[in-house]
Amino acid sequence: MSNARSSMLAMQLHRPGDPLQLVERPIPVPAPGKIVIEVSACGVCRTDLHVVDGDICGNLPIIPGHEIVGRIISQADDVRSFNVGQRVGVPWLGHTCGHCLYCSLGEENLCDDPQFTGFTRDGGFASHTVANANYCFAIPDSFGDAEAAPLLCAGLIGYRSLRMAGDAQRIGFYGFGAAAHILTQIAVWQGREVYAFVKPGDRRSEDFARSLGCSWAGGSDQTPPLPLDAAIIFAPVGALVPAALRAVRKGARVICAGIHMSDIPSFPYRDLWHERCVRSVANLTRSDGEKFFALLAKVPVETVVTTFPLQSANEALGKLRAGEIEGAAVLVP
Ligand SMILES: [Zn+2]
Ligand SMILES: [Zn+2]
Repeated sequence: MSNARSSMLAMQLHRPGDPLQLVERPIPVPAPGKIVIEVSACGVCRTDLHVVDGDICGNLPIIPGHEIVGRIISQADDVRSFNVGQRVGVPWLGHTCGHCLYCSLGEENLCDDPQFTGFTRDGGFASHTVANANYCFAIPDSFGDAEAAPLLCAGLIGYRSLRMAGDAQRIGFYGFGAAAHILTQIAVWQGREVYAFVKPGDRRSEDFARSLGCSWAGGSDQTPPLPLDAAIIFAPVGALVPAALRAVRKGARVICAGIHMSDIPSFPYRDLWHERCVRSVANLTRSDGEKFFALLAKVPVETVVTTFPLQSANEALGKLRAGEIEGAAVLVP
């Protein structure tokens, strides 16, 4: 796409359950605090699937996509943090109110009046997008555009989940997609042992997990060889909560990293007993992003991506839904 063009293309959701539709509209002019970005790549996250399938409801119509990498083509006069031409990343957290209880406590991920990219404000399944400059990040030079995209949510919210899991030595990951494949590399670099739980019988994902340094890989219906010190559930499957509680030791945490899950089946209290703990992780703070990208300057993370043209967004979503993506799916305009 040339910077000279005056219109942008996007894949827009009009109604949950329907395929995204290609739309064309004028490239916006940046309002105060905003930057206009020519998108180079945008990751396809499971949350996008939840939006498209109607599992969660934001604004409609909406352009999904919250793992955006691109270059600034114009910005408001009051933007000081970036320059035109600079590469930036746009994450899920698009705006916060700055004055609610949670914002004042430094827990802006829980803000009462937030905006989320690709959910309540238009996202990156597009040739261009607009973002609030104060919520964007600079991207380390060591990553290509497509390779950087999954860092913006899978990596970043995955990293928040890893921190919530505490300093567990033996950690289990349930669901081995975009987030787990990034987090495994960080956890192994930190000297932890990673146990990968995949869909029963999915040998390809088991091999993928082992190739990234997992100590063990097996089906989510299996018991790990040793009790785990913590587990993170990335898959949107509520039945994994009691399964993970049975796989962890006394006092361990089970972290639910996704925005949506099927219902959690009832389970005996003894599985929670002994101070085991279940906690969800919601969104991110800008501080999470700063810590995460600072860490990536030290950890040699390599992301595995499958790219699709922007106009094949529906195909990419279908493959993610079917579990056919190794690593992360990324749209390239
Ligand atoms: Zn707030
Ligand atoms: Zn996401």
